[in-house]
Amino acid sequence: MPELPEVENFRSFVDRTSLHQKIEGVKLAKTDRLFDISAKDLIHILEGNEFESTWRHGKFLFIRLKQKGHLVLHFGMTGELYYHTPNEKSPKVYVLLIHFENGKNFIFSDSRGFGMMAWTQNIEEFIKKRGYGDDALQIDQDRFLGLFRKRKVAIKTALMNQHLLAGVGNEFSDAILFQTKIHPLSVSGKLSIDHLKAIFLVMKKILKEAVSYNADRNKLNHYFLLNQRKAGLVCPRCKGKTEFQTIGGRSSYFCPSCQERYP
Ligand SMILES: [Zn+2]
Repeated sequence: MPELPEVENFRSFVDRTSLHQKIEGVKLAKTDRLFDISAKDLIHILEGNEFESTWRHGKFLFIRLKQKGHLVLHFGMTGELYYHTPNEKSPKVYVLLIHFENGKNFIFSDSRGFGMMAWTQNIEEFIKKRGYGDDALQIDQDRFLGLFRKRKVAIKTALMNQHLLAGVGNEFSDAILFQTKIHPLSVSGKLSIDHLKAIFLVMKKILKEAVSYNADRNKLNHYFLLNQRKAGLVCPRCKGKTEFQTIGGRSSYFCPSCQERYP
């Protein structure tokens, strides 16, 4: 499921493949998750246009168009990007297909349909209007501490709240809390400043490392609970057994023996 590192990987994929090429044709196959613009207007803006540059905020990817605004993509649970010559094995079902003048296709697919697509004139306005928090890689320590000290909810719920902090999701929040030995149900505002600082530093470390590996989870096996998500696993630290619980509506895994719970 795409979190910040995966979306950053999609961003660099667009940079490597799809910039500065004239758009010849556009097919919008699904419009039920298209926001802030009509299908007709979006097609009109895209045709004859070019992708100019990219930006990421949290789990949103913004593609700046040479003329007029930005295409916005959110990958939900199953969003994917493709760039290839037609006739190659390509997804039969997609949301958006862009045909470039060089003969290549850019495809945004989303099989489960939890992602979204939008268009915006201004990135800051888009983020502000929807109330998204600071990007998890951009936020500084003081701001992080200020926000998380005030929250009276479980730390895992706070970390996943995109309106507080944008980019961390279910799997990375479990890994961050395992690394810092903090139980996911600990109340954010009850944690000491040292605990919150540790969470902040570990979060930055894991996310940066994941980005540097192009979000290849196989290269992040040293972060327990990132790829091995199961109850009853042996904790590599204390040899206790991992447990499962639904927290903040999401399947959470943790080690109850060495992740301490603060009320
Ligand atoms: Zn343990």
